[in-house]
Amino acid sequence: MVFAAILLTVLLVINIYPQQAVKRQMTETARKDMIKDAATLASALSNIPELNGSNIGSAVSVLNILSENRRVLVVSDGAVVLFDSVRSQSLLGNVVLYSEILGALSGNDCFYSRFEGGAINKWAAVPVTRGGITLGAVYIYENDEAGASLLADLSSNIRIVSAIVAVAAMIAVLLFTHDMGKRLSKLLTGVKEAGAGNFKYRIDMPGDDELKMIAEEFNSLSGQIQSNEKARQQFISDSSHELKTPLAAIKLLSDSIVNNDNISREEIKEFLGDISGEIVRLTRISESLISINQALASDDVALYPCDLSETARKVKELLKVTAQAAEVTVNVDADGAFFVSGTSDGFYHIIFNLTENAIKYNKKGGTVDLSLSRGGGKVTMRVSDTGIGIPEHEQEHVFERFFRVDKMRSRATGGTGLGLSIVKEWVDRFGGDISMKSVYGKGTVFTVVFPESEDPK
Ligand code: ADP
Repeated sequence: MVFAAILLTVLLVINIYPQQAVKRQMTETARKDMIKDAATLASALSNIPELNGSNIGSAVSVLNILSENRRVLVVSDGAVVLFDSVRSQSLLGNVVLYSEILGALSGNDCFYSRFEGGAINKWAAVPVTRGGITLGAVYIYENDEAGASLLADLSSNIRIVSAIVAVAAMIAVLLFTHDMGKRLSKLLTGVKEAGAGNFKYRIDMPGDDELKMIAEEFNSLSGQIQSNEKARQQFISDSSHELKTPLAAIKLLSDSIVNNDNISREEIKEFLGDISGEIVRLTRISESLISINQALASDDVALYPCDLSETARKVKELLKVTAQAAEVTVNVDADGAFFVSGTSDGFYHIIFNLTENAIKYNKKGGTVDLSLSRGGGKVTMRVSDTGIGIPEHEQEHVFERFFRVDKMRSRATGGTGLGLSIVKEWVDRFGGDISMKSVYGKGTVFTVVFPESEDPK
């Protein structure tokens, strides 16, 4: 609609402007020519002592200002026609009170033109003076059919070109809007499919423009959502599987008590002890799941500078009993404060899990070294142990959820296979980077690097 209005305006301007410009140009040229011819004749006449038909006629023919479509009149100061170049219907002897003649008799050069009847009619008149006295006037009338037909040709050509341009433009617009409509509806289908939860849908957009780019962005976004959705479903199914194992054990143990009439007190105590162990496991799994959820959902939680050395010392204190039971020595090397941006809860999970693993997967008499250092705007935390290490082919999986190198040993130590994935989630959340090096049978080092943050004091 807007396009049609613009096109119409452009065509109108194209149709009107050049025609007007040519008309103006033609009129101006005619004015100059006719006034010049009239003035030349007037100046010739002003030197003739007595103005009469024959000497005016010879001046006109000497000056060669007559043409087929011209009429030349010379009038006296009383507007009486002294000479008329046209013989038939001659105005000779008549008084002519044309406005141009009256204008010229009062001393002015006059010109007027008008388009009518397929011709341009032009009138020019100049005074004939001698010694400041107006003796009469020269009047030239011209009927220009050639000029008029030139103008008519010009406008008809412009009209034809305009019509062709308009039709071509309309066809182009129709083709373009049709194609655009088809491509937009492809985009819309994709958005609708995604809205209905079908993230497998991909838009096949032809062309090489912004719409193509939008479709590509849409496809990669859908792919991202699709893989997130897959990971979420995997997580839910793994979680349910992990929860099912202790629940089945509890069911089995309690059934054994309920269905066995001859069970001894000691056996009941032993079974209840096992049930309690499974409940502790269930609790650990659910706590870990909550922590993962917190790490994933903490996008809008405000981050603030936290001192890692304070958390490290707190964790060492909390794991004192565990370390003593495992006969492992924990050393913390962190002089002063090391501030990084995050949440104290998140850092607690990171340091606690890494240190607890380093104790759990250690050997009797082994050590765990937790050190903090800074440099290049980063804070580096290293947790190294002299423990059992991780087989090389398993190392790439340690950050995956529910991954355990040795399921039996991990279970026995209360492992859920979630600890390191929680650590990774929090480290990512705080803009850090975690890496691991392990030598099977010798020990493992986890290195976490965070951007250093300002001391808040
Ligand atoms: P878990 O709860 O089983 O400890 P994690 O996610 O914390 O789960 O660790 C995954 C697996 O990586 C563990 O089961 C363990 O086999 C291995 N692992 C983690 N930390 C260490 C370590 N410091 N030394 C040796 N193996 C480790």
